[in-house]
Amino acid sequence: MIFHPVPDYHMHTPRCNHAIGSVQEYADAAMRFGLKEIGMSDHSPMPGDYDKAWRMDRSAMPDYLGEVERVRDACKGVLDLRVGLEADFHPGTEGYVKEMIASYPWDYVIGSVHYIDDWAFDNPDTIDIWEQWNIEQAYCAYFDLVTRSAESRMFDIIGHPDLIKKFGHRPPENSVRVIKAEERMLQAVLASGAALEISSAGLRKPVGEIYPHKRIVERAASLGIPFAFGSDAHSPSEVGHGMEMCISLLTACGVREIASFKARKRIMRQITHA
Ligand SMILES: [Zn+2]
Ligand SMILES: [Zn+2]
Repeated sequence: MIFHPVPDYHMHTPRCNHAIGSVQEYADAAMRFGLKEIGMSDHSPMPGDYDKAWRMDRSAMPDYLGEVERVRDACKGVLDLRVGLEADFHPGTEGYVKEMIASYPWDYVIGSVHYIDDWAFDNPDTIDIWEQWNIEQAYCAYFDLVTRSAESRMFDIIGHPDLIKKFGHRPPENSVRVIKAEERMLQAVLASGAALEISSAGLRKPVGEIYPHKRIVERAASLGIPFAFGSDAHSPSEVGHGMEMCISLLTACGVREIASFKARKRIMRQITHA
């Protein structure tokens, strides 16, 4: 299949303490890959001690923005570099996140759920906590939070929408409770106007699958929910990773357009292929 490369909107910098590479190195990797547009989206500051070790400190924000803006201006005409952020949705922190989003003219903000209550379910350090959970309940709790993230209307893109499967924990096949929770999530995303992220990161994780599951992609496509692509690169070598597989899945589900963002306005681009 031949397709035009689509924007990769999900990449991190060392400020989150678990990524490597300068913004220029991400941009260079994108250009080598043949991309015309990317966006940086480092892990946003959050209030208090919430997930502190795994994200940018608020004091690093001016430096982050300065570096991204410098590379954006230097690449003008060759690569469109968008200024984004991956913010967490976590009940009780909405006020802080809203204020942070309002403090800068972002091109887009990704909203991601990484915690159920105080459990970082995608963190290998706390994988043991899975043993205390019924897997079906964990999935439902996760999808309910993603539903609320869309209902908050704070975000342009809903990040890696079934991250809960990262380590390969599976609910019973065709669980009605899980399918209903997915449906509530998709209806909330549809109503919010946000794009759903299709992410290649799961391909590099124990689950070995694209986020989200094909069933969710098919249903979202039938509802007309827009998609945005993200590699969730934590190293320049991951920029654009898995794009072809993600685009193949989208086109197999009848999707013909992909979302791009500028100044928080969504513009749909044709995925051309022959
Ligand atoms: Zn994430
Ligand atoms: Zn990320």
